[in-house]
Amino acid sequence: YAAKRRHGGVSGYDPSLDSGDASRLTLQSELRQGVECGELVVFYQPKVDVATRQPCGVEALVRWQHPTRGLLGPDAFIPLAEESGLIDLVTAVVLDQALAQIGRWGALGHELPVSVNIPARSLTDGTFPGAIAAALARHGVRPELLTLEITESAVIADLLRAGEVLTELREQGVNISIDDFGTGYSSIAHLRDMPPHELKIDRSFVMKMCENARDETIVRAVVDLAKNLGLRVVAEGVETETALRTLGDLGCHEAQGYHISRPLPAAELTAWLASSDMSISAV
Ligand code: C2E
Ligand code: MG
Ligand code: MG
Ligand code: MG
Repeated sequence: YAAKRRHGGVSGYDPSLDSGDASRLTLQSELRQGVECGELVVFYQPKVDVATRQPCGVEALVRWQHPTRGLLGPDAFIPLAEESGLIDLVTAVVLDQALAQIGRWGALGHELPVSVNIPARSLTDGTFPGAIAAALARHGVRPELLTLEITESAVIADLLRAGEVLTELREQGVNISIDDFGTGYSSIAHLRDMPPHELKIDRSFVMKMCENARDETIVRAVVDLAKNLGLRVVAEGVETETALRTLGDLGCHEAQGYHISRPLPAAELTAWLASSDMSISAV
């Protein structure tokens, strides 16, 4: 069957989609080697201020340039990295590349905040704030330019410790965003006990917002919740001009999505920034 798919299918047989233990182990050891050999590549997707449509930041999104399988998206290897304990290494590599890139953009006159994705589990690691501080110092980047997007793909086991880690990060001046808000294990109680700076509305709501009244209601509710709590609010998955306008009507601060730009390699994003100085409304 695999052979048949390999010849007849569009994307070929992909062992990362196979649940077999052997192929998982193979991919795991390939990932470890790949990370060490510099095969992780960071793409950047811009965010715009909804009111002015000017770029206001970028999100770092990791890809794996696999030697034989091509460019793999995070969904093909991040879950595996989380299970195998490689995720901390992945985080460190992405953070390092992203902070170096902030410096390069700064030298070109673009002072661009960057958001890096962090699994919620890192918040129970007492050494995490120190590692962030060291990375910022190494690259000479001000903490205000870094946002950590926390994704809760599992329940945070030690909420007390997570609260302490978040407090330490906040005191350093790093921004905290709750990613994919409204899905997963993210809870409204966290907004009371461990307040972030920003909520990021999950793309599943934003993408269907214009066709589905219930999705629009949810987006509206999250925007209102964020604003009433004094938080920034970002919509991801903005695929159309209509969606961007609706977000403007709802008072959402920032937007990110294919309508604005796909995630791009750093050099291509630099070119995009240069051309978006006028206006992106023609995109
Ligand atoms: P996320 O953090 O919620 O990132 C947004 C995802 O939505 C990205 O997928 C982005 O390419 C995609 N996206 C943006 N705009 C649109 C749009 O208009 N339409 C559609 N259909 N999709 C859009 P990507 O790059 O495949 O990343 C998937 C997820 O993988 C991320 O979701 C994040 O949870 C995780 N991830 C990415 N990079 C890292 C990383 O460096 N570390 C960790 N731990 N996780 C990462
Ligand atoms: Mg994110
Ligand atoms: Mg997200
Ligand atoms: Mg998401």
